Amino acid sequence: MEREETRAAASRHGRLLVTALVRERLSALRRQIRSGKLDAETAQAEVAGLLAWVESEVRARTDSTIRPVINATGVVLHTNLGRAILPETATRRMAEVARAYTTLEYDLARGARGSRSSHLDRCFGLLFPGQGFHIVNNNAAAVLLALNTLAERKEVIVSRGELVEIGGSFRIPDVMRKSGAILREVGTTNKTRLQDYERAIGPKTGLILKVHPSNYRIVGFTAQATLEEVASLGRRRKIPVLLDQGSGNLIDLTRHGIRNEPSVFDALAGGADVVCFSGDKMLGGPQAGLIVGRPDLVKAMKENSLTRALRVDKVTYAALEAILLEYARGTAEATLPALRMVTASREEIEARARRLMESVLARAGDSLAMSVVPGESLSGGGSAPEEGLPTSLLIVSARGKSARALESALRGHATPVIARIGEGKVLLDLRTVSTEQEPVLEDALVAAAGLTR
Ligand SMILES: *Cc1c(COP(=O)(O)O)cnc(C)c1O
Repeated sequence: MEREETRAAASRHGRLLVTALVRERLSALRRQIRSGKLDAETAQAEVAGLLAWVESEVRARTDSTIRPVINATGVVLHTNLGRAILPETATRRMAEVARAYTTLEYDLARGARGSRSSHLDRCFGLLFPGQGFHIVNNNAAAVLLALNTLAERKEVIVSRGELVEIGGSFRIPDVMRKSGAILREVGTTNKTRLQDYERAIGPKTGLILKVHPSNYRIVGFTAQATLEEVASLGRRRKIPVLLDQGSGNLIDLTRHGIRNEPSVFDALAGGADVVCFSGDKMLGGPQAGLIVGRPDLVKAMKENSLTRALRVDKVTYAALEAILLEYARGTAEATLPALRMVTASREEIEARARRLMESVLARAGDSLAMSVVPGESLSGGGSAPEEGLPTSLLIVSARGKSARALESALRGHATPVIARIGEGKVLLDLRTVSTEQEPVLEDALVAAAGLTR
């Protein structure tokens, strides 16, 4: 560390980082010497080259690991790739409130403490007049909070066909247990009738829960009591009905060929007392859990002490406000990337795929073979499981290279490209690629072709 060049490196990259790297390298060399894998002469050379190694490692160790990628999978709400991407109006607001002190909990008019939860009052009031609403960290938190508030130590009636797992760690029975509510399963996997719910109601019943089948369908010999039926039963027996709606779509998706994805408005019109949903699925916003419904029930949730543990950051408020304003103004379908992607037509995507193919072929020559064919994209992220959206796929193969190798080369590009492989070929779906990203994707394809020679 006292060597001139090491001190210079430490002043460039920070003493902490350089010291850690030097220590790491020296102990690796010691280990190799002890185990007889390294002779004295080579060890000397390695020590002499220590600084070069440190310099090369500094980049690798300090590069961000959460990096922008090009999502060429066509899966719009790809949970692994961060779900919905936000419009400029939202990201600008996020940066604004992150950079400065804000009125997060400050009432400017009174010059006194204000309320964090008041910021979205206007937007929600416009979209859901007369309803209460609340925001938490994500939809899993919303379900947890609703169950704990409305049914702690009480029974929650759920259909066996709706005891779902939504990705890894979110399983309705587990969340139920953690919330302190008691699961009361009714019906069977494929059939649950209204009478099943009715028979389960007793003195310990606190809530009826309906869960939207976000990422699966039960098909064949099936029956599920509808939300409308269950809601009217709840009203008759004075038991609140909670709907875990999941996707949070506020527009009519049937116009775009997506069936079985009723909107939050449909759920409220269907009689659900409380509806909860994600912010970063079909709503097209930031990660959040939104709760809308009967004012008295929502108020109880806000007053639950768990709310403090589940609350969201100012940056999320800023983003959500921008997103909800797009809906309030009626501009959401034109401006929210997630909605634009989901509603893009096959023809639109095909035209872009053909243009991209021609520019790539003009540069990469015969080292790549490409074609454009009809296919399907999935909206993903727990929305419309069996609804493939009609799309156009760009099929790419590289001379002398397997699909795996080509896919991996694309993933290794400076801006990584995430692609699908189907039937032994690399498939690119431009539904989830913005027009601004097309030149980068073109470069990535040309570069991947270059590596094959
Ligand atoms: C996605 C989803 C969840 C989990 O939401 P997160 O926002 O990811 O926590 C819960 N329930 C349903 C029905 C969902 O679709």
